Amino acid sequence: MTTIHAVKTGTIRIRPSHRAGNMSLPLWRRRLAIFLDRQWTEPLPIYTYLIEHDEGLILLDSGESARSSKPGWFPWWSPFFQLALDIHVEPDDEIGPRLRSMGIDPGKDLRMLVLSHLHHDHADGLSYFHGVDILVSKQNYQASRGLKGALLGANPSKFPSWFEPRQAELTGPAASSFDHTLPLTSDGSVFAVPTPGHMPGHMSVVVRTPAVSYFLAGDATYDEQLLKERIVDGLSGDLRVSVDTLDRIAAFACSEPTVLLPAHDPLAEQRLEERITLTDPSA
Ligand SMILES: [Zn+2]
Repeated sequence: MTTIHAVKTGTIRIRPSHRAGNMSLPLWRRRLAIFLDRQWTEPLPIYTYLIEHDEGLILLDSGESARSSKPGWFPWWSPFFQLALDIHVEPDDEIGPRLRSMGIDPGKDLRMLVLSHLHHDHADGLSYFHGVDILVSKQNYQASRGLKGALLGANPSKFPSWFEPRQAELTGPAASSFDHTLPLTSDGSVFAVPTPGHMPGHMSVVVRTPAVSYFLAGDATYDEQLLKERIVDGLSGDLRVSVDTLDRIAAFACSEPTVLLPAHDPLAEQRLEERITLTDPSA
């Protein structure tokens, strides 16, 4: 039997214009709006998801670090990191202590760590996973390194020195609305799908169980309402790519009962517990 656990690694407040971009504006004005915005969202969860599968434990994303609120963690020169994020992570909220509290040794017990993308709040917890098989898309890894990566919201200067992930190319068989996938288990019930837009090479993970499928969306969408309304976040570089991703997720959920689990959706844990699918009239 496959079980999914939502493992929260603190909270983050972002600007409303970041959560939901004004899609009538060109890219530079959508991004400028984030820096001019003085409002905050409610504190949003920073979820990682642990998949307990017969073939082993697969973790999606490594969450944020408690050190992220200390000076010097993020690039000092970046207005995005300095002005547009408000992060709260206690030392015990980090992914290492969270997994240990579940009886799991992060460096030894995982079959695989999959990273939806390398933004700070998904990759700052990497230090716990030395020696683990780590998978990220080739495109996202390339986009996240160096100055270019920092400009896109990654924090590559804090990648551990040993960090050399397997760079995935999603060339496996189609699944529903996705032309290509990457199987992560030999039974094919857990697989990665390309969901670019929020960041180049962003990927999501699908877990199929006899009752429902779970769509672990990373930041492909911040929450279910935004997906339904086809609203793209204010950071996304290419609206066409982002909207195409949203449409493919929605089409997937029409083709099989699907529980949507984004990384920052305050309602994700409840949907996971109650198995509320995207097409439920009550959802
Ligand atoms: Zn992100």
